[in-house]
Amino acid sequence: MAKVQLKAAVLELVEGDITVQDTEAIVNAANNSLLGGGGVDGAIHRAGGPEILAECRTLGGCATGDAKITTGGWLQARYVIHTVGPIYWQVGVRRAAELLASAHRRSLEVAAEHGVQSVAFPAISTGAYGYPMDQAAPVALQAVIDYLDAHEAAGIRLVRFVLRGRQAYEAFARALSRLVEAPVQA
Ligand code: ADP
Repeated sequence: MAKVQLKAAVLELVEGDITVQDTEAIVNAANNSLLGGGGVDGAIHRAGGPEILAECRTLGGCATGDAKITTGGWLQARYVIHTVGPIYWQVGVRRAAELLASAHRRSLEVAAEHGVQSVAFPAISTGAYGYPMDQAAPVALQAVIDYLDAHEAAGIRLVRFVLRGRQAYEAFARALSRLVEAPVQA
């Protein structure tokens, strides 16, 4: 686990499964339809049950870089925030970074609008959407750090990145070390 204190919030990295997190909200790396997919999206719908998909059907999809919220269904998390990251090879490196940052920012905005104080993110776009982990990690982390710096009063106290596998965790840990002075490794 790595952890860093940022103004009013804590930013954490853990290796694990996002569906079992005890944060108030977990973020889903969804697709534009919000009607379910593979990877982390499939895992969240399987663990959270049919209520999440039923609510997603009423939302009219989600633009890339935007985020929408539903119940957490059977999950421990009260909410699932569905965001859509870029398909890396379709948009070019620069636009991909903008859209990935936007997906993180919008997810935190939606969380704050619902009074959520703790949020867990997966490594958005790094699976089927092809974003190289080493490139996605600093973009994702910087977007969250920027949001927390600028919105201290928004009420978010914990952001946890839940990385599947050692390699993903280490990519985020390396990126975090470069972005902040002294992350605590444990
Ligand atoms: P995308 O389409 O945005 O690339 P994917 O679901 O294919 O989304 O993958 C995003 C990341 O989520 C990948 O790094 C994948 O290893 C990871 N992942 C898959 N299942 C889980 C899970 N249960 N918990 C946390 N991360 C997961």
